[in-house]
Amino acid sequence: MDDSFMKLSFLGGTSTVTGSRYLLSDDKHRLLVDCGMYQGVKTLRKRNWAKFPVAPSTINAVVLTHAHIDHSGYLPALVKNGFKGKIYCTRATYELCQVLLPDAGFLQEEDARYAQRKKFSKHEMPEPLFTEKDARQALKHFEPFHYHETFEPVKGFEVSFTPAGHILGSSCVHVHHKNSDRTVVFTGDVGRQNDIIMRPPEPIERADVLVCESTYGDRLHGDSDPEDELAAIISKTAGRGGITLMPAFAVGRAQMLLYVVHKLMEEGRIPNLPVYLNSPMAIKATEIFIKHHKEHKLNHSQCQLIDDNTQFVHSVEESIELDAMRYPCVIVSASGMASGGRVLHHLKTLLPNPRNSIVFAGFQAPGTRGDAMVQGANSVKIHGQHWPVKAEIHNLDSMSAHGDYNEILTWLEQGKLKPQKVYVTHGEAVASDTMRKHIHEKFGWDAEVPELFEEVDI
Ligand SMILES: [Zn+2]
Repeated sequence: MDDSFMKLSFLGGTSTVTGSRYLLSDDKHRLLVDCGMYQGVKTLRKRNWAKFPVAPSTINAVVLTHAHIDHSGYLPALVKNGFKGKIYCTRATYELCQVLLPDAGFLQEEDARYAQRKKFSKHEMPEPLFTEKDARQALKHFEPFHYHETFEPVKGFEVSFTPAGHILGSSCVHVHHKNSDRTVVFTGDVGRQNDIIMRPPEPIERADVLVCESTYGDRLHGDSDPEDELAAIISKTAGRGGITLMPAFAVGRAQMLLYVVHKLMEEGRIPNLPVYLNSPMAIKATEIFIKHHKEHKLNHSQCQLIDDNTQFVHSVEESIELDAMRYPCVIVSASGMASGGRVLHHLKTLLPNPRNSIVFAGFQAPGTRGDAMVQGANSVKIHGQHWPVKAEIHNLDSMSAHGDYNEILTWLEQGKLKPQKVYVTHGEAVASDTMRKHIHEKFGWDAEVPELFEEVDI
């Protein structure tokens, strides 16, 4: 291979919405786009423990589309295993990673300690994938850039970010390979055309090759008004003396839910209730969200509405106290798919009582507790015990931070693109394949769903 060619390898994010990792290379350099952790069913999670498919020390640089753990969470392990280069992303992504990655390390250590205590592990001393300290080490490799700024992370590869409208700092990553004069665009996760808090994704103007997400490749969000739906649920739940619990992604949906709840209260559409945010990570993410208010739709006073009226639950003691609460209130807590975090304690308390409501607000990956509850499970296992699901379960898909296939097609059309090839990734197998068909039917583009570890010439 000479350096007038570029290759793309799919090291993750195929047939799943997690573990996004794409490697671009010519004969001299290697650039990794996203470095995500696998989440969801056990067979996927086990992949986190496999040896990275290329030696981390041979990767020259990493570029991130956004901060979510399924796109950034493997970075501490990559650094721990020999990656020496820099990690490039937008400024807000960097600030969010400063919160998310050490927390991910802490959770890894917790899991290892728990497995050791319960003797779950076949190993004598279960080791964490990486520690909080490893995560802090990885953060030293970060170098943020502004949207639309062009930089050269590796010789011959020019990179820039455009807003993707998914969460604060989220971007599409444009990579122009100078020698071959080819441009590859990675959409990352693509936001909504009409999100409550995020501006729509910016159209892409040029891509010879496009790597496109497909979380909702086979589904539409419908046209029900999420504010109306949420107002009805909260009012009904409070009316019967229950608590509304909203498991939310600490970064993104937590801030949106808080804003909507306060807005509904201000407009008198739901009763005045105490609103708690019980997730130290979501609290920090909310601070970052307010600080970067120019990057989203909410102005300073709308941010203030969240800040002034939410009771932020910091300490474990306060969290335990909140868990003992028996009068109507709204609790927003992470994680969004109920796979970990403080929301688990609330679920154990609130699930067995039909007065309460649990409201999910986004994609629930197969294998997660969130998915089980949304699918109508009678019980879920939390901390080694089965808990009956008696509370009302709702999934407000329309509050998702991902565009559905129609929104993504609309967005692609706005850019007047003519890619020679589209690779459809970041979706369950059926969703990706359906997205592939939609893209081909609408634009006539050559679209394909790559397999894990497939390598293609660009
Ligand atoms: Zn995401």
